[in-house]
Amino acid sequence: MDCKPRAKPLLLCIFLFILSFICPALLIIHPSNEVNLLDSKASQGELGWISYPSHGWEEISGVDEHYTPIRTFQVCNVMEYSQNNWLRTNWIPRQSAKKIYVELKFTLRDCNSIPLVLGTCKETFNLLYLETDEDQGSRFREHQFSKIDTIAADESFTQMDLGDRILKLNTEVREVGPVTKKGFYLAFQDVGACVALVSVRVYFKMCPFIVRNLASFPDTVPMDSHSLVEVKGSCVNHSKEQEPPRMYCSTEGEWLVPIGKCLCNVGYEERGSSCQACRAGFYKSLLGNVQCSKCPPHSFTHHEGALHCGCEKNYFRADGDPPSTACTRPPSAPRNVISVINETSVILDWSWPEDTGGRKDVTFTVLCKLCRPGQRVCEACRSNVRFLPRAAGLQNTTVTVGDLLAHTNYTFEIEAQNGVSQLAPTMRQYAAVTITTNQAAPSPVTVIRKDRTSRNSISLSWLEPERPNGIILDYEVKYYEKQEQETSYTILRSKGCNVTLSGLKADTSYLLQIRARTAAGYGASSRSFEFETSPDSFSISSESSQVVLIAISSAAAIILLTVLLYIVIGRFCGYRRSKHPDEKRLHFGNGHLRLPGIRTYVDPHTYEDPSQAVHEFAKELDASCIAIDKVVGAGEFGEVCSGRLRLPSKKENCVAIKTLKAGYTDKQRRDFLSEASIMGQFDHPNIIRLEGVVTRSKPVMIVTEYMENGSLDSFLRKHDAQFTGIQLVGMLRGIASGMKYLSDMGYVHRDLAARNILVNSNLVCKVSDFGLSRVLEDDPEAAYTTRGGKIPIRWTAPEAISYRKFTSASDAWSYGIVLWEVMSYGERPYWEMSNQDVIKAVDEGYRLPPPMDCPATLYQLMLDCWQKERNNRPKFEQIVSILDKLIRNPGSLKITANTSPRPANLLLDRSSSEVVQSLGTMGDWLDNVRTLPCKEAFSGVSYSSCDTLPKTSAEDLKKVGVTIVGPQKNIVSSIKALESHSKNAPVPV
Ligand code: AMP
Repeated sequence: MDCKPRAKPLLLCIFLFILSFICPALLIIHPSNEVNLLDSKASQGELGWISYPSHGWEEISGVDEHYTPIRTFQVCNVMEYSQNNWLRTNWIPRQSAKKIYVELKFTLRDCNSIPLVLGTCKETFNLLYLETDEDQGSRFREHQFSKIDTIAADESFTQMDLGDRILKLNTEVREVGPVTKKGFYLAFQDVGACVALVSVRVYFKMCPFIVRNLASFPDTVPMDSHSLVEVKGSCVNHSKEQEPPRMYCSTEGEWLVPIGKCLCNVGYEERGSSCQACRAGFYKSLLGNVQCSKCPPHSFTHHEGALHCGCEKNYFRADGDPPSTACTRPPSAPRNVISVINETSVILDWSWPEDTGGRKDVTFTVLCKLCRPGQRVCEACRSNVRFLPRAAGLQNTTVTVGDLLAHTNYTFEIEAQNGVSQLAPTMRQYAAVTITTNQAAPSPVTVIRKDRTSRNSISLSWLEPERPNGIILDYEVKYYEKQEQETSYTILRSKGCNVTLSGLKADTSYLLQIRARTAAGYGASSRSFEFETSPDSFSISSESSQVVLIAISSAAAIILLTVLLYIVIGRFCGYRRSKHPDEKRLHFGNGHLRLPGIRTYVDPHTYEDPSQAVHEFAKELDASCIAIDKVVGAGEFGEVCSGRLRLPSKKENCVAIKTLKAGYTDKQRRDFLSEASIMGQFDHPNIIRLEGVVTRSKPVMIVTEYMENGSLDSFLRKHDAQFTGIQLVGMLRGIASGMKYLSDMGYVHRDLAARNILVNSNLVCKVSDFGLSRVLEDDPEAAYTTRGGKIPIRWTAPEAISYRKFTSASDAWSYGIVLWEVMSYGERPYWEMSNQDVIKAVDEGYRLPPPMDCPATLYQLMLDCWQKERNNRPKFEQIVSILDKLIRNPGSLKITANTSPRPANLLLDRSSSEVVQSLGTMGDWLDNVRTLPCKEAFSGVSYSSCDTLPKTSAEDLKKVGVTIVGPQKNIVSSIKALESHSKNAPVPV
């Protein structure tokens, strides 16, 4: 401690020494909103303030508790009268202050504690100030000063305090303002106190620079009055004003009420109170105080401050894609295209592409190309080809293409597109399918012209139908008197496009319809056209009227005779024609002539010599045109091979070749070839097509189109659960369409089963296995019935099993079983139940349960096909139309039979309620469903009641050792059926 060697201030010197140890609080860290104009403590050297008189205030050096030197002033002339000691600071520049604060820290001696004072001792001193524009140096005039206040001590110290080292430091703050001149002085007037000024700090308050809401606000000096200063902020670098930023500066130097804000620019994010560029690999595309985001998949940035990320090679962003979405690419090609041809229209169905390119906006576009024989490049289809619902922008995976030309090759290119396909034309992929349309009946005649009219004849001509769909063989002209209302009519045939109707009544209106016929049969009739014969305009004499009468009578007699003859010949031909499929049977129902227009199946047995039937219906092929490649299967009569057929001036075709093994008997040869005689009569896209036979050389062969995927049952087993519902329905629709054709022709298949359906590479299903005795002899599934016949029990309707009543309705039953086989991916109907049990169960009303995940509509169709009363079963035409509706409305496939509210019909379900009650335990139930291998597997595990069954999954079944796919599926679907069954009221089959 460095005290000046003076006697008088000794007391204070000691006091300050003590003070510096006792009170670290002396060293106040000033709040940042205070700007010092003077701080006596900060001065290291002498302050140089002026004292008047010079023996009044004394400047003393000391140290604070950190041993930092400080300067203090003290005065203590309490022993003397009339004290007037002034201490004046140096000139203090005002800076920007409008109001100043003076903070004094001082100690004051309690007068009472000073011994021997003579009543002059004071305990206050005065604080004064003087404003000037310039420093006045040492010039000092007392009267120029204005008093700020008399400063009294809150606490004064005594001798005892000194002894106890108790410090009584006073802090007083006084405001002075407004101050307006460039600077000012402060003065301390002592009138006889014992006081030490430990520190004098003069400051003004200021709202300091601040960044708030990304806007910077400068240092702001508050008003001297109590009003606030409104301050506008400026946005920090890389930011923009969202709403003008403002704040208020209070007189206390505090910022109040922030309003408005700034937002970081795109490519910049808020970090601390500034906007910083996004790092590489990050982007920010929006103005706002969100953080930069990582580049989405398949995009990148290598620089800082990116607004968005660029796409990797072969990835794109569509126009409307926000920068936050991943870059995407065009989809891969659609898969598994199947085509179902119906005359001159085709239903195309496909699966979603494996890779949608990462987008959801996938649509499909179908391009139609017509491929003429001999032309290498296919041409675009005519504009009148109809697409349903449309050719482009398809959201579903199916389209119907109509109004194609008959017997024509078409290629359809199906492209999956998404929002970026346009950006990458070279990456676009499509699936193509080539089809050949079938023959189709001609479209109706629309234009008919009246050429000549007389009293009893009319000559007409017409234009060929717009779509002849083949060579028109002839036209059928049907006409009748208008007033007779079609109760009797006449039919004429014409090879050309004109006809003369004679023998008409004079002055009479006739209605007339024309329809054209091609090899595919009759087309639809034209609308009715009305014509009138000329009026009887002349009168005739009685003599001539007699002549006319005789003439008319003779004519009538001749006509009558002709008609009779026609009927007789017609009947005769009708009988004969039943032996010939290309001719039409004539029916006389209600005395009227009916021409059905559909070819009829001719049973080759009705031919005395079956080989005649073969040559009538099958083309004889030269064995040299056939090349056998490999064996693909085994038939009853020999091997089935794949190979190629090259007919003169035709392109080579893949074919299947059935051979008749050596050493055959005559009967075997006849039976073998009977299949060709039957197949050769059919021409339908869902019936296996016969290419021809080889009978004139050995081995005897039947050559058919080649079906790459073989028989349907094994195909489905190989691709378990791999098809979409719509694909399965597409296949079923094909089978139903083929069966409709067969039933329309009057052919009953008798052995319809998945094993007798063949599948080609486009998933088109075709009915095969035609034969006579061999149909059932050949089938390993066929078993002898009590009546001696061999029948595939599980596929056959009860009436056919019991009394061999085979009809299209029994084929419909079998179709229901095929439907079940398809929906269960080749499961064996009734699993391992014995044929006898199946017959008994079906007879008692039990039916197969719905296969797993089987759409309710399809299960309903199965049940309909399995109606006991055969007339209640749906016709194939109805089945086709039900399936068409499902294809058009694929959403309907989503409701599965297992979850549908309609109670499922359990296999062996006698009366549903009875079964639920009687199936008390798992064992009972298994006994009832006769899934014996499974029953054994279940014994010993804790599935004891039907209540627990519905929770059983395929996984659970595996655990208990049921690993055969068939029984597992059976059990799970039966369990599900049982579950829905027990929840709902029973409905007998
Ligand atoms: P099938 O004697 O007609 O029952 O034929 C026996 C096996 O030969 C069938 O199960 C098929 O695997 C195969 N097969 C028969 N016809 C064809 C064909 N047109 N295309 C391909 N495979 C065939």
